[in-house]
Amino acid sequence: MALKLERFVCPGKGNGLRANQRVLAGELLYTAEPLACCVSSQCRNVVCHSCFSRHETLLRCSQCKVARYCDVTCQKRAWSIHKRECKCLLSLHPRIPTDSVRLAARIIFRLLCPSQMTPQLYSFEEHESHLCDMGEEKREGLSQLSSMLQLYLKQEQPDIIQKVPSFDPISLLAKVTCNCFTISDAELQEIGVGLYPSMSLLNHDCRPSCVMLFQGKTLQLRAIRDIQPTEEVTISYIGVLLPTRERQTQLMEQYHFSCQCGLCSTAELDPLMFCGVKEAWTPMKEAIPRLEILQTNGNWEELLQECSSLLAPVGGAVPAVPDSNVYRLRVTDLAFDACINLARWETALAYGLKTLGPYRQYYPDPHPAHAIQLMRVAKLQHFLVHLEDAQHTLRLAYDIMKITHGNEHSLTSDLIRKLEECLAEMDCK
Ligand SMILES: [Zn+2]
Ligand SMILES: [Zn+2]
Ligand SMILES: [Zn+2]
Repeated sequence: MALKLERFVCPGKGNGLRANQRVLAGELLYTAEPLACCVSSQCRNVVCHSCFSRHETLLRCSQCKVARYCDVTCQKRAWSIHKRECKCLLSLHPRIPTDSVRLAARIIFRLLCPSQMTPQLYSFEEHESHLCDMGEEKREGLSQLSSMLQLYLKQEQPDIIQKVPSFDPISLLAKVTCNCFTISDAELQEIGVGLYPSMSLLNHDCRPSCVMLFQGKTLQLRAIRDIQPTEEVTISYIGVLLPTRERQTQLMEQYHFSCQCGLCSTAELDPLMFCGVKEAWTPMKEAIPRLEILQTNGNWEELLQECSSLLAPVGGAVPAVPDSNVYRLRVTDLAFDACINLARWETALAYGLKTLGPYRQYYPDPHPAHAIQLMRVAKLQHFLVHLEDAQHTLRLAYDIMKITHGNEHSLTSDLIRKLEECLAEMDCK
């Protein structure tokens, strides 16, 4: 397959990628294996460190006791990459360095064996570190990570950092934090971090032309709308369910640039995001960080209680906040998640249905998050034997997934199977 992407210098943005011919919505533009990657600490016991699939029980590396694998085949396949890291992990046991330190170490090991590298549109040496854009606090954080990295590598090869030409650990870690991608599973939950050098050329747009998905640790870049020859190809670095100011703050803090995209200059979605009476949605906005901690800790009862009291306060005199309000939507989503985890299917479905209208408004282009939300609702409808509704929702999900995931993706096959099941059950009635 001829590459339809080429590197170019984009005025005002630096390096970028553009199409060198016409691209159609749904086309797979690029598939990439990581230069280096690692499983996130939070799921290191349930995700295979070789193929990145999720399992309840995994085989453990008998030496470092950190790396876990599906089976001996996965373990053998990973050994050439894990071998040096294994000694480092063992030397720090029971401490485990942060994801960025483990990833940086794996990048160093990789750069020491240039023979194994596949050609890229963009080399790691060219990656930007944005060190001079960083504030004091961030630099301090990096220098702590750098001490950790050196301690971590000490056992394996004390002078390893000197062996990689022109790298000091701080700029290496800065490059890693600015350029690594979150590897997510089919439900879009984070399972790892990885560096895909050519893909680091992609610039951000709050309404991008492409999306990135993963199958295991293989990255797939797909067009979500038609792209003209020489048009820049973009992705969104952040979630889109945020008002303009919040998106811009996040982009500045994390990626060090001020977004000038079309959506940011018109801020056209902001009135919808802020709809309703401000005094009524402010408590929802303020509660979100606290609610997200409850979600992370799996404190579902408490989460559901807090969400439901925010969404339907007793007394009735409180001014309404429409479902489309972005903070109300976030709280509804959290309530939806809590109900699923508490197996309260009917209530879950009621919350899920409330999110679908707003999702349609906020995702005018095909987006994986929208498809996943439809899938979750459809599964509940199917389970509760609302078969007509379920097949309708599955079809809506399919219309998005054929573009964002493609027909070969395992999740698309799952969806088609579910739809067939649903239709067969309807026939039996
Ligand atoms: Zn595996
Ligand atoms: Zn090991
Ligand atoms: Zn923007």
